[in-house]
Amino acid sequence: MSVKVLEKAPAKINLALDVLGKRADGYHEVRMIMTTVDLSDHIEIQETGGDRIRVRSSALYVPEDERNLAYKAADLIKTRFGIKQGVEIWIKKEIPVAAGLAGGSSDAAATIRALNRLWRLGLSYEEMAELAAAIGSDVAFCVRGGTALAIGRGEKIEPLPAPPPCWVILAKPPVSVSTAEIYQALTLDHLAHPDTDGMIAAIERGDYEGICSRLSNVLESVTIQKVEEVEQIKRVMARLGADGVLMSGSGPTVFGLVRHKSKAQRIYNGLRGFCGEVFMVRLLGGALI
Ligand code: ATP
Repeated sequence: MSVKVLEKAPAKINLALDVLGKRADGYHEVRMIMTTVDLSDHIEIQETGGDRIRVRSSALYVPEDERNLAYKAADLIKTRFGIKQGVEIWIKKEIPVAAGLAGGSSDAAATIRALNRLWRLGLSYEEMAELAAAIGSDVAFCVRGGTALAIGRGEKIEPLPAPPPCWVILAKPPVSVSTAEIYQALTLDHLAHPDTDGMIAAIERGDYEGICSRLSNVLESVTIQKVEEVEQIKRVMARLGADGVLMSGSGPTVFGLVRHKSKAQRIYNGLRGFCGEVFMVRLLGGALI
């Protein structure tokens, strides 16, 4: 029996998401603060005979071929290091797909960490982040997770301390959105830019109220034009007493931050009848490696 390596692939939320402009390469220049939450996919990787990469997943709508981001990560590592060895990648999906929670990116990052161990590649964090950036903009953040400022197209990572512990309620309306489509619909004039520096300062001094009052995402109003449930969920969360509420990434998942468990439970119960996928988890905040 060949060795099996396991990795947890946590979801992220954006505490702030700003777009500074459009770059010559077609990407947007972003400035975002991301943090990981305790809602994770689980990756299992095992060597097989031959030289093929096989991906299987527990979710219905995730591609199992070379379009899968975990496949892309394994393929890149095999090519870069000239490894002629087949692997089977099993992805147990818990993170909703195309939800603004970076599920696919986190699976790719977990695959890089897992193969670094399986094949004893001895890659440093910087080397893994460099491979990750070639797969997708959010993958570099997911290699280490925790809390960080991401700039450039999202691949340049500056670590931040963990925010104070709290509960996170995640609610995803029963629709998926394409990140590319949301960025295309964004008009750059008159954006209400988040106070990202103020958010960094609040995180650094452990100021929970300061974090909650600065939650801001320039993509939120764009997604609301297409998915009106985002606005409705925000309103319900605020009415039920969430300390801060925001859409994550390009959406449509909305998250609410809550200090006390009893209130988190009340919001979770209140949303369950209203919204398809609802989760109550803790902020992870600290780095994975
Ligand atoms: P982000 O927050 O980084 O924009 P997201 O949470 O909006 O990401 P994902 O769940 O990562 O979106 O999926 C986006 C698309 O990527 C899906 O529609 C799916 O077809 C494709 N995909 C490729 N690999 C995976 C994977 N391992 N898990 C989920 N989706 C994947």
